[in-house]
Amino acid sequence: MLKKELEILLVEDSQTQALKFKLMLETHGYQVATAKNGLEAMTMLLNRQISIVITDWMMPEMDGSELCHAIRQHEFGGYVYIILLTAKNSKNDIIEGLEAGADDYLTKPVDDAELIARLTTAERVISLESSLKQRNKEIALLSITDPLTRVFNRGYLNENLPKDFKRAQRYFSPLSIVISDIDHFKIVNDQYGHQTGDMVLKNFADRLSRTLRKDLDWMARYGGEEFIVVLPETGLEGATAAAERFRQLIEEMRTETDAETIRITASFGIAAIGNKERKPNLTAEDLINTADQNLYQAKESGRNRTIGTAL
Ligand code: GH3
Ligand code: MG
Ligand code: MG
Ligand code: MG
Repeated sequence: MLKKELEILLVEDSQTQALKFKLMLETHGYQVATAKNGLEAMTMLLNRQISIVITDWMMPEMDGSELCHAIRQHEFGGYVYIILLTAKNSKNDIIEGLEAGADDYLTKPVDDAELIARLTTAERVISLESSLKQRNKEIALLSITDPLTRVFNRGYLNENLPKDFKRAQRYFSPLSIVISDIDHFKIVNDQYGHQTGDMVLKNFADRLSRTLRKDLDWMARYGGEEFIVVLPETGLEGATAAAERFRQLIEEMRTETDAETIRITASFGIAAIGNKERKPNLTAEDLINTADQNLYQAKESGRNRTIGTAL
């Protein structure tokens, strides 16, 4: 029998019964851990990823229904599917068990084939839950990502730049942003077509994002071919050095198509707050406006350059 990935936690105070169930389940390929009561079971659940619990009803310290309540009050890595085993079979006990949070129940003596069949249902529910969770994660990521360049989108920027800005203001730590705009990008589109223009944009975003400090700096697509790089813990001097590095990187970048090699340059506007005394009324918007004005100056004074100001 192939070993299954899911581990079952068997909670049973009677050692003989526990052993009997464990052997039976192992014969069907399950990995089985055991606990003698609810408290022991909770400790194990908190320490490792277990998705299926088969629990006895009558146990000392914490009984089956208390264990169900306890499990449902906790946030585990994934859903915990609970099968309650009970010697009782009155309707009220079954209702109590289900209300306590059990997903399913079996009355003792348990029929092996029936338990195995119920476990198949458990596995189906767990696998549904985990693919749903995975999908939700993907959707959450998509909702903050620009589809063409895979960097953060404008929505993410609007939400997170003010947060970074406020944090920097509160702790008197420096923060800079660099706005970039590709020079004469209309000509690229006109000469090579929009699709090739897209390739250049992707290449641009790839190059820049790969040079950023992991887990600290981040970049977002601000508009068409404009990007904002956020550099926390970085004052004007550091940001100017970073922007100059970006500028050179883009100058050296080549985008190859079947027919030609495309070269571009870009202009950069920087705005920074330092770690000295500062104006309390400044906002992230002021930072963007200043960087934008500097970008405009960089364009006016010949493009392919960086201009920065500290606020
Ligand atoms: P400048 O040096 O003054 O920036 O000149 P520019 O031609 O780059 O002018 P501007 O920044 O105003 O124009 C940006 C152009 O970028 C206009 C638009 O057609 C193009 N663009 C914007 N978004 C995309 C996109 O997603 N894909 C492609 N291929 N082009 C885009
Ligand atoms: Mg018991
Ligand atoms: Mg532009
Ligand atoms: Mg441009």
